[in-house]
Amino acid sequence: MKKTAIITGAANGIGKAVAALYASKGFQTVLADIDSENGEKLQASLKQKNLDALFVRCDVSDPESIDHLVKTAKDQFGRIDVLINNAGISDFAPPDELTVEDWDRVLNTNLRSSFLLTRAAIQLMKENGGGSVVNIASTRALMSEKNSEAYAASKGGLLALTHSMAVSYSGENITINCISPGWIHTGDYEKLRDIDNSQHLSGRVGKPEDIARACLFLTQPENNFINGENLVIDGGMTRKMIYEH
Ligand code: NAP
Repeated sequence: MKKTAIITGAANGIGKAVAALYASKGFQTVLADIDSENGEKLQASLKQKNLDALFVRCDVSDPESIDHLVKTAKDQFGRIDVLINNAGISDFAPPDELTVEDWDRVLNTNLRSSFLLTRAAIQLMKENGGGSVVNIASTRALMSEKNSEAYAASKGGLLALTHSMAVSYSGENITINCISPGWIHTGDYEKLRDIDNSQHLSGRVGKPEDIARACLFLTQPENNFINGENLVIDGGMTRKMIYEH
């Protein structure tokens, strides 16, 4: 029986690499994104390689759109085994200028979405004896630059949501983990400067595939002793003292 993985924000960037990896590993891959044009392009390119992919337009900030996504996955594939809550937006503004609408938009897209989609997907996971969820947070859950309040709060909330839901759904053979990426370059890697790469302990900026491989690892059933955890993948940047001398 083929397994099914839902990846949100799959049309671009990190989500696209995650979706491509799951599809290449034989998963029925549900590509959920608000960007129909790139979502459909990815679906076509995966299908051309004889891989299973279904694009579903979904605005994760809209609860009805989330229900539609889960229903479509159920109708099409009958099961959900893996959920990667990756879709996210970052709107930086000085705290004195951040509107309530902007705050709500970031929190509803980055945080509420993961709660609602995880809760809905787990109902189906339970029917097939279990499953795995990965929330994509950020190292900005742990440290900050100026003017990142809404984004940082949404990502910090994801860390807490991860362990609280892992506890609530324990005993159901469900793992819920979190990945906190650092700088993952989703544009032209060749355009990075030497200093961009050399400042990392690993000597390079991250790539979407770095996150994709970790998602796959965390969602493999034999790795189910890792649960409620936050895995930082940032080339060591949050381990580096930055006091200026
Ligand atoms: P990205 O390139 O902007 O891709 C995000 C995808 O999500 C886009 O296709 C975007 O569509 C879609 N999206 C936006 N709002 C949505 C919504 N309401 N419903 C459904 N889909 C929506 O971002 P990324 O850099 O790959 O980041 C992916 C995740 O990793 C995010 O959660 C981000 O916070 C996190 N992250 C990224 C980095 C990094 O350095 N790249 C670092 C730490 C954490 P549109 O393009 O049409 O908006």
